[in-house]
Amino acid sequence: MTLRLQGKTAFITAAGQGIGRACALAMAAQGAQVVATDRDPALLAALPALPGLQTRVLDVLDKAAISAMAHEFADVNVLLNAAGFVHPGSVLDCSDEDFEWAFHLNVRAMMHTMQAFLPAMLARGSGSIINMSSVAGGIKGVPNRFVYSATKAAVLAMTKSVAVDFVAQGIRCNAICPGTIASPSLRERIAAQSALSGQSVQAVESAFVARQPIGRLGQPDEVAALAVYLASDESGFVTGVGHVIDGGWSV
Ligand code: NAD
Repeated sequence: MTLRLQGKTAFITAAGQGIGRACALAMAAQGAQVVATDRDPALLAALPALPGLQTRVLDVLDKAAISAMAHEFADVNVLLNAAGFVHPGSVLDCSDEDFEWAFHLNVRAMMHTMQAFLPAMLARGSGSIINMSSVAGGIKGVPNRFVYSATKAAVLAMTKSVAVDFVAQGIRCNAICPGTIASPSLRERIAAQSALSGQSVQAVESAFVARQPIGRLGQPDEVAALAVYLASDESGFVTGVGHVIDGGWSV
């Protein structure tokens, strides 16, 4: 049986935990050569040893390191940008420093990885770029996610821009817009909100679940299944789209 990503090389940022990790494992299971990167070496060391999966420490805020990776892995035809951070708060809570930090990590770093990996994809005439956006921002308003939403809407806009600029040269660029996914950082957000509000962890978690019409949180593996599709040739006619996976939150 031919695996769905046989012959592909995927480069993934923030693959140490959560959605990025699930994508790395799912892509390797489908036969891709996977370069799983993260800024945290301990998380990378904890990834299971799968055929085709290798790890590299990469902080996406380091533009020179991104460029060096693109030279080392010149055969990458799937770039999955998962790195991102959820900054809480409304417009009144957002300092200039918060704004710059959020846009640096969630937007500028993604621009740098695309700039680094696109030229070799263009030279080969094929490539699939997958950018992790969110339903927050480009799809719907979410309370207390001002700057996060602004960055994720920018990710969606960058995705469409890259898609339209390179569609005739074999490049596809899509975004994934998840709802609430049960990742380690969501657990941290729930714990932090519980500490701040005095509500129990259980109560805060229930509130997150309650906003999902489907009645539960999403799982990283479910997002990874969508990423495998977008990485594969099955999605060869799909580009420039923000793919919502949110249990009906935005319906
Ligand atoms: P997470 O927040 O639990 O983990 C983030 C990972 O990113 C960690 O492994 C961390 O080490 C790594 N990381 C952080 N800064 C980095 C940097 N500068 N360079 C390289 N790696 C870095 O993961 P998650 O919640 O699955 O989120 C992954 C992506 O999905 C993010 O872009 C996030 O905005 C997006 N997203 C998540 C949810 C959700 O509910 N979890 C919803 C919508 C969108």
